[in-house]
Amino acid sequence: MQEFDLGIIGGGPGGYTAALFAAKQGQKVVLFEQSDIGGVCLNKGCIPTKSILHSSEIYKKLQNCSEFGISTGEISLDYSKVIERKNNTVEKLRKGIELALKNAKVQVVKSEAEIISKNEIWADGEIYNVKQIICAAGSSPKELKGLEFDHKFILSSDDILNLTSLPKNILIIGSGAIGIEWARIFSNFNVTTTVLEIAQHLLPLADIEVSKRIERIFKAQKIKFYTQTSVEVIENKSVTLSNGEIISPDVILVAPGRFPNITEYLDGVTYIGDVTGEIQLAHFAMKEAIEEVTNIPFRKDLTPSVIYGTPEIAWVGKKEQDLEPATYQKSLILVSSLGKAWCDGETEGFIKLLSQNGHIVGAHIVAQEASSLLQQIIIAMQNNIDIEKLKEICFAHPTYSEGIFDGLFSFK
Ligand SMILES: Cc1cc2nc3c(=O)[nH]c(=O)nc-3n(C[C@H](O)[C@H](O)[C@H](O)COP(=O)(O)OP(=O)(O)OC[C@H]3O[C@@H](n4cnc5c(N)ncnc54)[C@H](O)[C@@H]3O)c2cc1C
Repeated sequence: MQEFDLGIIGGGPGGYTAALFAAKQGQKVVLFEQSDIGGVCLNKGCIPTKSILHSSEIYKKLQNCSEFGISTGEISLDYSKVIERKNNTVEKLRKGIELALKNAKVQVVKSEAEIISKNEIWADGEIYNVKQIICAAGSSPKELKGLEFDHKFILSSDDILNLTSLPKNILIIGSGAIGIEWARIFSNFNVTTTVLEIAQHLLPLADIEVSKRIERIFKAQKIKFYTQTSVEVIENKSVTLSNGEIISPDVILVAPGRFPNITEYLDGVTYIGDVTGEIQLAHFAMKEAIEEVTNIPFRKDLTPSVIYGTPEIAWVGKKEQDLEPATYQKSLILVSSLGKAWCDGETEGFIKLLSQNGHIVGAHIVAQEASSLLQQIIIAMQNNIDIEKLKEICFAHPTYSEGIFDGLFSFK
């Protein structure tokens, strides 16, 4: 029987982060992973989608580069190379994490593991005795009734990564982060793209003004979408929607969310990341891991949400629809007012700040570099820096961050 200080189930962002931080403290750590190190984030989520998205953005930019004074010959697309690059990126990063685990002397067991008790894990025919267990077993794609994955026509977010060629026409069910990013990818590659959302607006978890702006951007980009609409019936690849429309996609991506990989939670075991069903984001899983191992706390309410593509969408804190009227102030700076945006030809979007009692309580950004812009605001919110103090900061010119500067001064 092998003995360890810490046993970790799952080698995704939650699991490998916990392992590396614990090992750094001198703990003897064993990590169990039944599939690939890196988890969903590295192998089926964040990284592969962002790699394909980046290829799609280059493809789109090249088609519109004459406005920048650049002419090209005929532009052609080899989707298999896009996928090859994605695979290489994933592999490189996976090797990096594997090496970091090896250097930290974390014992990695490539096997399914089962928690027997709060101090015992079974894997590969052996029992591992551990002082503590962290379970970071992650989540899997949710199915919808009548839209069960057949992995050929009705696809999950895992299946869509395995396409070897692009469809001509795709229907995407769900307009959360996964649905929006894949809609952008396919549309950039000139695939006819339709998004279906059961809620009143696209990106239903976002600030209402962000949702409406994304709808406007989608219209401009000719990404078709239906809100308050669901699939009524599918017959021979012909899809009848609840609004009576009939469409005939080559494939359907079903992306309504994800469910935790376990259903029973044992007392005395720590659960982190997607498996808790709480906030299903890689950076949230990593911060939970660090908090658990090092006791460095973090503000869960200040977890950033980011949706990638052009323009990026990022937000943190309170949304306008959640605030009582007359209790807050709002500033909204259009990206088109910024010099850098015109230089880049990326003038779509806004930087919206919400404040209460002189402090920022929410930020909602649709802009190039929105993810990095948001981080500046989170630092201010986390440290309780009020708007008057923030006004003292010098922001570089020309940058998108000047939109934050302008926003601060536009509060009354
Ligand atoms: C298409 C897509 C795009 C995404 N994009 C982003 C993004 O841009 N930014 C972001 O923050 N998040 C993104 N996410 C979400 C992100 O991937 C997850 O939040 C993150 O991977 C959760 O990390 P985790 O460690 O909790 O679990 P996971 O990454 O799911 O890892 C869990 C691991 O545990 C292993 N495991 C499970 N059970 C066992 C067992 N019994 N024994 C051994 N091993 C086991 C699994 O094989 C898996 O490798 C995306 C997700 C998807 C699907």
